[in-house]
Parts: sequence; structure tokens; C-alpha cells
Amino acid sequence: MSWLTEYVRPKIRTLLGHREVPDNLWDQCPACQQMIFAKDLRASLRVCPHCGHHMRVTAPDRLAWTFDETGFTRIELPKVPLDPLRFRDQKRYTERLKDAREKTHLDDAILVAHGLIGGHKAVVAAMAFEFMGGSMGAAVGEGLLAAARLAVLQEAPLIVFVTSGGARMQEGAVSLMQMPRSIIATRLVKEAGLPFLTVLTDPTFGGVTASFAMLGDVQIAEPGAEIGFAGTRVIEQTVREKLPEGFRRAEYLHEHGAIDMVVKRSDLREMLGRLISLLRIREAA
Ligand SMILES: [Zn+2]
Repeated sequence: MSWLTEYVRPKIRTLLGHREVPDNLWDQCPACQQMIFAKDLRASLRVCPHCGHHMRVTAPDRLAWTFDETGFTRIELPKVPLDPLRFRDQKRYTERLKDAREKTHLDDAILVAHGLIGGHKAVVAAMAFEFMGGSMGAAVGEGLLAAARLAVLQEAPLIVFVTSGGARMQEGAVSLMQMPRSIIATRLVKEAGLPFLTVLTDPTFGGVTASFAMLGDVQIAEPGAEIGFAGTRVIEQTVREKLPEGFRRAEYLHEHGAIDMVVKRSDLREMLGRLISLLRIREAA
């Protein structure tokens, strides 16, 4: 902890009275450990002003930061059967869902909206890591299909911001079925001749990497994002080889051709607008 948390913050607290200084006034950068004023961190789109580390972003913020100033409209997503397997570990799945919903004010790990990006119509699906680790269950599969159908209806490109820890274990095989379903969603968009773009953000792992997340016409990633299928130890034990340093980072994947570009968060909106206009010109020709 720095002198800010140990000395300055308690000092401010005693000066103002404990209750008047909320805990979320300061954030600490997980990369360089510097303390950042929460308001400054929001202004910089949760990118550390000291070291440039891209921190995780909630799905509602992602939508707000992606569309033009004209705003966007969120669509309601189809309801899915609750807890199809009646799953229980230390806790019932229904309880975990209830807790996650209360904590995040989201229905599940995906939001879908439409609006303008760089003046072009676009449909955006944003995954929510804050909701049960962005795990892909039936609700995420339905959300992706709804987003794809909306893109086709509006003749707009589909952009998916991906962040996920993998499959929703509590939904078992139902969760695994979302892999082919999400691919069907990408096919709907591609068969309609519309661009499908993915932005891989930290972290992108498991089932999403093995399905729709790697099928973008253009694969974009945020700086430093960890992207992969399995964990380092699992791979090392399987291939019996030591893996290179940072092999799951966006920059490494870019150097080795697995993704097309690494784009800073502050440049993302402009880049998406430019890509849409380029892809649509080609389409018109
Ligand atoms: Zn930092």
C-alpha cells in the first residue's frame, strides 16, 4: 500500500468524519499499484494514467463509451429457462443468479444495444465479466442470437465486446450448446453480407474463444488483454513444453497473427467507425 492509503486517506477521513468519505473515492491500479482518483479514472475510461494499464470495464460502461454522443437503445433479451439442471454446489445456482442480479443490476452476462458509431448504424453486444465471470450460459447464447437478428433486421454490422471466463458450469451441457449457437449467430450476420467484428478484452477464455470470439471479420483486442482457451499450467502439462513469456497477451497474439490489431481504449470508438465505413464501402462495391 502506498502512503496515500496509509497516511493521506485516513487523514482525510478524520478531517471529514469517517462516513463522508466513501471507499470508492480512490482506485488502485493492479499493474503499477498507484492510487488514482476515481473521477480521473472514469475520465480516462478506466485506463491507468500512470502506466496505461487497461482495467476491466462493466458492460453498461462499455456501451456508453462505444456509441456516438447521440446515445443508444438497449433491447430486451429473450428469457431463458432458469436453472435447467437444478444445479447446486455450495450454493444453489438460482441463489448465485439472484446474488449476481442484485450486485450488478443485470439479468445475465450480456447486454445488447443499437445506435450510431462514427455516424454508422451498429448493433453492439457487450459481455459482462462482473456477472458470474462473464460465463456463457443459455442467456448469453440467446443474447448473441438476438443481437445477430437485430443486426440483420437493421442491415447493420454486429460488434461483440468479449470478456468471459468460459462456460457457465452450472448449466452443464446446456452451456456447451451455446458454442454452436453463438456460431450460428455469426453465420446469420455473415450470410446477410454484414460485417462482424469482435473486440477481445481482458479476460477472454474458454468456450467463447473456442467459438464466436475468434470468428470476427476483423479481430481487435485491447492492450494487455489476456486471451486464450486453457490456463498456462494445463497447456504446459498437456504439451510438455515450457510456454513463452506473455503468450496469452493481446500483443503476443497480434505478433503471431492470431488477431488483427491491438487498439487502445481511447481510440476504439474511432477505429470501429473507420472499420465499419471501410467494410461497408467494399460491400457496396
Ligand atoms: Zn498503473
